[in-house]
Amino acid sequence: MKRLAILGSTGSIGINTLNIVERFKEEFDVLTLSAGANLPLLREQIKKFKPPLVSVLNRELAQVLQRDLQGEDVKVVYGEEGLILAATFPGVEMVVSAVVGSAGLLPLLAAIEEGKDIALANKESMVMAGEIIVKKAQEKEVDILPIDSEHSAIFQALGGKRGGKEIKRIILTASGGPFYSLPAAGLKEVKPQDALAHPVWEMGPKISVDSATLMNKGLEVIEAHWFFQIPLEKIEILIHPQGVVHSLVEYVDGSIIAQLSIPDMRIPIAYALSYPRRLEMDLPSLNLIEFANLNFAPPDYEKFPSLKLAYQALETGGTLPAVLNAANEMAVEAFLQVRIGFDQIPQVVAHTMNGHRATPLKGVDDALQANRWAKARALDFIQEVSR
Ligand code: NDP
Repeated sequence: MKRLAILGSTGSIGINTLNIVERFKEEFDVLTLSAGANLPLLREQIKKFKPPLVSVLNRELAQVLQRDLQGEDVKVVYGEEGLILAATFPGVEMVVSAVVGSAGLLPLLAAIEEGKDIALANKESMVMAGEIIVKKAQEKEVDILPIDSEHSAIFQALGGKRGGKEIKRIILTASGGPFYSLPAAGLKEVKPQDALAHPVWEMGPKISVDSATLMNKGLEVIEAHWFFQIPLEKIEILIHPQGVVHSLVEYVDGSIIAQLSIPDMRIPIAYALSYPRRLEMDLPSLNLIEFANLNFAPPDYEKFPSLKLAYQALETGGTLPAVLNAANEMAVEAFLQVRIGFDQIPQVVAHTMNGHRATPLKGVDDALQANRWAKARALDFIQEVSR
């Protein structure tokens, strides 16, 4: 029985994770859940999984929940400290890190510090401080297993190994998002509801917008660099609209190994939870006959400048990836609030990055400080250009 902490239990990854836990009751036990503000769903999850501790976004929500749960044997905590308590709860063996954004970093590091294994969805943490996370995990002999479907595909194609001289390149596939065939001029007119309609995956709002700008792929390149210890020049992106081949690894002898499946996040989540075993998932098989063509094309870096910004951040390194990530978080939020246009998202990120002098990441505080600085600068710019 593996005892789990699920950070972000009310989100898309959290819900899929609990779906697996419910199906494999004899395999997993949930010790802590953490949500943001979705109390109705969290209440249902508490009823079903009976965790001894839950965390919510802030004190007000914690008080409301506490009143509702009177008489029940569950402790309610909140905020950053609450997330850390949930991540480090005694007895937890694996933390599913599925909070969205920079809020995931400190609980992730705290869990690693306590020697908990990690199933990682929260790519923003890796972007902000991949170097520190990987080092700390090695030091504490903690396993970090990927949930992101592309990284899970690479992990599987590498046979569970990381890095190594035999890898010629890794190829991250991208569906291209909902606007891949839209002429560049049309990006100005894109509305939040258009950006939220991903052609292949059903995901939370932030990653859906990131997929539409292709920033998601940029963040994934940085995540892959740290995760698999692969230099940037060996990481390639290919647009693959069918979303069937989740990523590929080419070895030095010319062999390419890919992972294919139906697009269902429960597949990579289950693998991260049960690695190195595989759970019998009872999902429909991928019907290859339905796919007469599998297409691959290079990305359009001019139309989707977010990708170039992510490459620039990784090449420069130090605090710049944390700045990229923070500015992007602010820009996506402003776009979803209809304060800026879709085409302005990369402008906010570029403006913020241009004003930053990157310094080496000596510790997590450097990443957090860069995060705060970039959010403030991005917000100023958003206020300036708000429509
Ligand atoms: P969602 O928006 O669906 O869920 C986010 C979760 O985090 C919710 O439980 C939300 O709570 C909680 N949350 C948000 N902000 C805070 C905060 N400040 N403090 C505490 N909890 C918070 O996102 P996804 O599940 O789509 O994505 C989660 C992470 O996984 C992201 O990093 C994403 O990039 C990554 N990922 C997602 C994939 C997917 O298919 N969805 C695929 C690969 C990676 P509440 O809703 O209660 O407010």
